[in-house]
Amino acid sequence: MAMVRDYCICVGKVEYSETSQILNLFSRDHGLVRVIAKGAHRRTKAGASRFDGGIDLLDGGDAVFSFDPARELVPLTEWSLTEGRLDLRKNLRAIYLGLYAAELVSRLFEEHDPHREVFDRLSGVLMELSTARLEEAFLSFELDLLKESGYLPELFSCVECGIRMDGIGLSFFSPDRGGVICGRCESAIPDRQQLDGRLLRLLQGILRLPRGEMSVLRLPRLTRHQTDPINSMLVAHIEHRLGKRLRLPKYMLGR
Ligand SMILES: [Zn+2]
Repeated sequence: MAMVRDYCICVGKVEYSETSQILNLFSRDHGLVRVIAKGAHRRTKAGASRFDGGIDLLDGGDAVFSFDPARELVPLTEWSLTEGRLDLRKNLRAIYLGLYAAELVSRLFEEHDPHREVFDRLSGVLMELSTARLEEAFLSFELDLLKESGYLPELFSCVECGIRMDGIGLSFFSPDRGGVICGRCESAIPDRQQLDGRLLRLLQGILRLPRGEMSVLRLPRLTRHQTDPINSMLVAHIEHRLGKRLRLPKYMLGR
């Protein structure tokens, strides 16, 4: 079995026994991999455990593991922590957004399917979450992630009649139809929710920004007053598409 070294972010963790952890690592070149870190909590005579006392969600590190897509779980043989997210961990809001970002990555992609751009975006947003620009940084990451995974809802044209939606008239959103609905079609769509036209224009504006030169400084400053309804709408959409509830939204949205 080939041993590989790759840069990874921990996006899922189960304490497996007193001494071991099962981790879902998002690796830059190999995609999601499930590894077992045996002895993660066991101290050696020298005082340190093999994996620095255990690996935490969102930690970034250089990992060595055996790569075999035929196996569900492979051993992690080395881990050196490069990013413990100490600044992010000082702010509860940043922690929830970071954990939600990790949950989305672990749910929206298949195992062993590399997405280097998404990896770099996740790595970047985990740094931006410790700044004052966390709301807009997270939203822009979320939209990129949905686009890259094929889960982005239709946000420019009514999914029923195809008319361009500019956020001027009444706007609605339907998780069942996977997109926005205009004022003329809304009465026929049972699960529609009204969507503030200003928020729709905001989403469209972010989606139109050129990706290549994307920087958080080009995004409008946002508050939770704006991001909560958008995040909530996107959660409803993602849960509908997955057919499953997500774990983090209740913390992220405080509902
Ligand atoms: Zn319509």
